[in-house]
Amino acid sequence: MGVIPETMLAWVKARDEEDGMELIECPVPSPSAGQVLVKTHATSVCGTDLHIWKWDEWSQLEVPLNTITGHETCGVVVGIGENVKSHSIGDFIAVECHIADWTCDRCLEGNAHICEKGNIFGVNVNGAFAPYFVIDALNARSSPSDVPSIHASVQDPLGNAIHTLMGGPVKDATIAIHGLGPIGLFAVDAARAMGAKKIIATDWDNNYRMNIAKQLGADIVLGKDDDIISTIFAETNGKGVDNSCEFSGAPLALSNAIKSTRMGGVLNILAVYGTDPIVPMNEIVFRYLTVNGINGRKMWDTWDVMHELLIEGNLQIEKVVTHSMPYADLQSAIQLMLKGTCGKIVLTFE
Ligand SMILES: [Zn+2]
Ligand SMILES: [Zn+2]
Repeated sequence: MGVIPETMLAWVKARDEEDGMELIECPVPSPSAGQVLVKTHATSVCGTDLHIWKWDEWSQLEVPLNTITGHETCGVVVGIGENVKSHSIGDFIAVECHIADWTCDRCLEGNAHICEKGNIFGVNVNGAFAPYFVIDALNARSSPSDVPSIHASVQDPLGNAIHTLMGGPVKDATIAIHGLGPIGLFAVDAARAMGAKKIIATDWDNNYRMNIAKQLGADIVLGKDDDIISTIFAETNGKGVDNSCEFSGAPLALSNAIKSTRMGGVLNILAVYGTDPIVPMNEIVFRYLTVNGINGRKMWDTWDVMHELLIEGNLQIEKVVTHSMPYADLQSAIQLMLKGTCGKIVLTFE
């Protein structure tokens, strides 16, 4: 496994401005009690990392300057803190980035992903755009051995997609996926693997990602030139879909999703809206919709379902992960994401 160096080159949010990212020499951390030290194999770049790069209002509040960012990651355990019995040197793990205290009311009721005293790895505390990182042993999830390391880092967004889908019926259900960023694409793939009856995928005008949705097996892919609501009704015997998932953060997509979910159906929302959208509330009331706000992953129900799917081998992660590049090229990855001509981008480490 080699000698662990004392320092490493890591990407930190160094300056209080757009971009403001620097690849600088940092100490390799050592694991505290209850933590493991991990040698990074791959870290994927998330929309959240783009927010931090842009340094929007949310990032300025959440990310302390000089934080090592990057939260979607996997690697091999190379160091073990005191009191850790669950892990051994050499274990291959993927990270759950929501770090919980496991004692608050939310944790005790089974919602550790919204822990009242939680932190997010790579956002509030140092993360994994770096060759080594430390993480609570509980958050270092054993990764199925058949999943190549180039795909194992995406369990964070894949888990987001599965958590969102599972807010409503999936098997034998009609499902609309609104917004085809990487999480939306993972949702198309997972819905198919979980036995959805019909999948309707919608985006605005990103043809690159709409094509991936088709390759993943979406039955119908719609864009800005289509009448989204009437097409969804036409494809569902005039009823609307059983389960709508909104990932875009676009007010129009939210409105379309509400109006095209069947009577008594479910709308699951994992999206961030720039401004408060106008919501057709009467449609929610009279269509008797259940609306779920979703974030993170259930710890550990979502992970268990995801690992079953990964082990079955019926997911097509290679179609969503469109690019991989050395981690020193983070800035190229960001530029590609700004253009939108990519699915998920994975940064690799030696
Ligand atoms: Zn993420
Ligand atoms: Zn808690």
